[in-house]
Amino acid sequence: MIKVDGHVHTPFCPHGSGDSFEMYVERAISLNYSAITFTEHAPLPVGFRDTTPDQDSGMDPSRIKDYFDTLDSLKEKYKDKITIRSGLEVDYIEGFEKETEDFLSTYGPRMDDSILSVHFLQHRGKWDCLDFSPDVFESMMSYYGSVDEIYKWYYKTVLQSIRADLGSHKPKRIGHITLVKKFQQLFPASQSFSDDLSLILQEMAARDLELDYNGAGFVKPYCGESYPPPYIIKQARALGIKIVYGSDAHTADGLDQGRALMK
Ligand code: ZN
Ligand code: FE
Repeated sequence: MIKVDGHVHTPFCPHGSGDSFEMYVERAISLNYSAITFTEHAPLPVGFRDTTPDQDSGMDPSRIKDYFDTLDSLKEKYKDKITIRSGLEVDYIEGFEKETEDFLSTYGPRMDDSILSVHFLQHRGKWDCLDFSPDVFESMMSYYGSVDEIYKWYYKTVLQSIRADLGSHKPKRIGHITLVKKFQQLFPASQSFSDDLSLILQEMAARDLELDYNGAGFVKPYCGESYPPPYIIKQARALGIKIVYGSDAHTADGLDQGRALMK
């Protein structure tokens, strides 16, 4: 069986660990991966102010060239042992489509593979990072009115990200489409949102977009399942959507996380 990990963070992550690229690559080799894509959080769009308390969601824009250069030498160094792909996890942020497209037209040519993810939701002119912490999620509940309303808004934004015109370098894979469930055991929704998810999958299939099957949810203390859960994966497969495992590791130890539990 060919093992691939399409979602790996790096020492360039402002909220990650200091684990070196070599630590990730060596561990991936020891776990018999044949290919991995490094998908560091891209710099946030020009003009967008990071609303997280730590302001650490995206890569420092001054380091982006260094990031791709480092990956190029890493590919060369390990070319006989493992395929290394250069990529980014690009945020879809409502209202910043033009800035995102500009960024992608500049750096898209340096990427082999990439992911488009929603972490920030815009509601009545305010942007919140929904997966930052239970505290931020809780503060969103009072602003949005309910947990269900946050879920509704999240799935609406994921759908927008799928439909958005971000130019010819738009990422081909959609990240963790149920990230809103990260704190579900603390703040459960009252419904499954299966219609929203079905529509998301249909729109992905129509555009030939791939799905990030993300193991990180298993290790989050209040989530307990992959992003998305297996019944959604089943639906995605039935629609012919290509599914790519992603550890979403922010440490070398995080590689392979959840994988044994995912079918
Ligand atoms: Zn991250
Ligand atoms: Fe993400």
